[in-house]
Amino acid sequence: MAADSETIRQLKLAETFFNHSVSCLVILDRDYNFIRVNQAYADACRLKIADFEGRNHFELFPSDTKLIFDEVVRTKQPFVTFTRAFEFIDQPERGITYWDWTLVPVLDANGDIEYLVFSLVEVTERKRAEEALRIASLVYQHSSDAMMVTDAENKILAINEAFTQLTGYRVEEVRGKNPNLLQSGRQSAGFYQTMWQALNTSGHWDGELWDKDKNGTAIALRLAINTVYDEAGKVAQRVALLSDITEKKRQDDLIWKQANIDSLTGLPNRHMFINQLREQIALAKESGRCLTLLLIDLDQFKEINDALGHAKGDTLLVEVARRIAACVHEPATIARLGGDEFTVVLSDNHDNAHVTAVAQAIIDKLVQVFQLGIERAYISASIGIAQYPGDGHNAGDLLRHADQAMYAAKNAGRNRYCLFTGALQEAVQSRMRLNNDLRDALKAGEFQVYYQPIVELATGAIHKAEALLRWHHPVFGMISPAEFIPLAETSGMIVEIGEWVFRQAVEQVKRLRSMHLPPFKISVNVSPVQFRHEHDFTEAWLEHLAASGLPANSIVIEITEGLLLDATEGVADKLLRFRDAGVHVALDDFGTGYSSLAYLKKFDIDYIKIDRVFVSNIDVDANDLTLCEAIIVMAHKLGLAVIAEGVETTAQRDLLVAAGCDFVQGYLISQPVPARQFEKLVI
Ligand code: C2E
Ligand code: CA
Ligand code: CA
Repeated sequence: MAADSETIRQLKLAETFFNHSVSCLVILDRDYNFIRVNQAYADACRLKIADFEGRNHFELFPSDTKLIFDEVVRTKQPFVTFTRAFEFIDQPERGITYWDWTLVPVLDANGDIEYLVFSLVEVTERKRAEEALRIASLVYQHSSDAMMVTDAENKILAINEAFTQLTGYRVEEVRGKNPNLLQSGRQSAGFYQTMWQALNTSGHWDGELWDKDKNGTAIALRLAINTVYDEAGKVAQRVALLSDITEKKRQDDLIWKQANIDSLTGLPNRHMFINQLREQIALAKESGRCLTLLLIDLDQFKEINDALGHAKGDTLLVEVARRIAACVHEPATIARLGGDEFTVVLSDNHDNAHVTAVAQAIIDKLVQVFQLGIERAYISASIGIAQYPGDGHNAGDLLRHADQAMYAAKNAGRNRYCLFTGALQEAVQSRMRLNNDLRDALKAGEFQVYYQPIVELATGAIHKAEALLRWHHPVFGMISPAEFIPLAETSGMIVEIGEWVFRQAVEQVKRLRSMHLPPFKISVNVSPVQFRHEHDFTEAWLEHLAASGLPANSIVIEITEGLLLDATEGVADKLLRFRDAGVHVALDDFGTGYSSLAYLKKFDIDYIKIDRVFVSNIDVDANDLTLCEAIIVMAHKLGLAVIAEGVETTAQRDLLVAAGCDFVQGYLISQPVPARQFEKLVI
């Protein structure tokens, strides 16, 4: 059959259209066998056109869309454009793909279905974009972070639910408005300037700021703003993410306060004070100015606290802070360093007259009565003063020197101020030097034990002596134990030194006993520090005595009243262990402390030593004589022997004999002397 040229042209056109269409085109027979597919379809299926020959559509691509095809075949009505998801079983990497279908039945002359033509357009990209958008909008609406979208003119386009919850504003109240309705006024103009500069250059800003909600309540926010640009690169929208950090800020604030502010007085604490002092020193250095540091320490605060209780003590401290502030009429930093220590830093140029006037004003204010509820309390204050740059170039030096000056004020009798001076520094330094030298003194053999005889008044016999330590310093010469024993106590070196003295005394008493002297006893001073030291020395001492072949009663332990006053369980145990072993115990410096009869009995003391201050006056002061007599009578009633210390004159000795005293010790008989000299004295 010959076709005319027009028909051929039409066919060619149709063929061209079919082959080159970007839509996928397929012709099936009524049993869904492929008749023809175009290149676009083969490409979409990633197959060749030849691969479809003789194949059935639903064999090749099993799918529930067959139901729709069947429906079209049944009704002979076209099915127009529906989107279906489809998975290529043998190409799992493609995932779920989406297609818009159009299915048209082509009927023959009898009205029966001859072909089915369907066209397909893949819409996977669009579907995915739609899905992403849907999810984004879900996130946007349900996010717990508040979000706000503004347009290029910085007008609010949209907000989410969380935004409403955070700020109290509803969409209709803010749409079209400028977000600056949230500004709290707490942020400077410069702050917003930098924010906009960042937004205009990088499109992004994030940071923390204070805004306010609809009620005007300040809210701390972490804010992140991003910019969405259009194709032309112009700002289309800005998206702001707001998280509420008010609670965190409050916590941070609280933590800062706890670290920097004294909760009782509201003043800066030590930590903040040191930081501020450092800053002030740096500023003073820059501007060539001075600073004055006043370190104020209350004199009797501990007693008030103990007597009236901590609550009253606290009230007093608050009042002290208030009074100090009232004495300072210029810009100054006042801080509480802790306990009953306060500082004032004066940061203007000051001459000494002005500085001491401020210190005196504070002292005068603090001696005035404190009314604590129904109670009245009196305190005083000692103030140390140090100045930058004269007395120190950094916070540490300045504080240390003010502290030394404060101690000097205390030593001078309290209730006064003291300016730091070079001499003060020297005193402290020589103490420090002694302390250092003390460390090596034992090894270097610089110690020597002297002995002072103790005479029995009834017989005039000497069968007792006190061991007294001497330090021959290589540079300073002989240093008094009154000076170095307290240092050795503070550093704990007394434990080792005391042990050495004890061994020396044991050695000496052994020599004396071997010289056929009556049963000799040597007393050794034992510091409370030795008793309170965790290491129990009693065992070792008793063993050492036994190993030396000496009875325990050849050694007497001299202790002070202070040890008995706050004797802990451990201290009492050690004392009783000595007693049980037969070592005698003497109570030294009797009468200077809080003497208590109860203690004498409880700890089974053997001797009391009446302090030199009473003995030295018995020949001139009737009161002291009466006191000595009373002590002797009382001691004898309790079964204790009495030793009078510091007897320097025969008059004193005679009065003591008359009073019934048992032993005397003092320069009248002999000064403390080295061992060999002592031996000559007693043999
Ligand atoms: P203390 O135990 O009260 O010793 C008596 C002090 O009075 C000794 O001072 C002694 O030399 C001095 N003295 C004795 N008779 C007279 C006198 O007639 N007139 C005057 N003015 N003074 C007299 P020293 O030797 O300077 O010792 C001072 C303190 O150092 C002792 O006071 C004692 O508490 C302590 N001490 C000495 N040696 C030791 C020791 O080995 N260990 C411990 N823990 N402390 C010791
Ligand atoms: Ca003594
Ligand atoms: Ca004494």
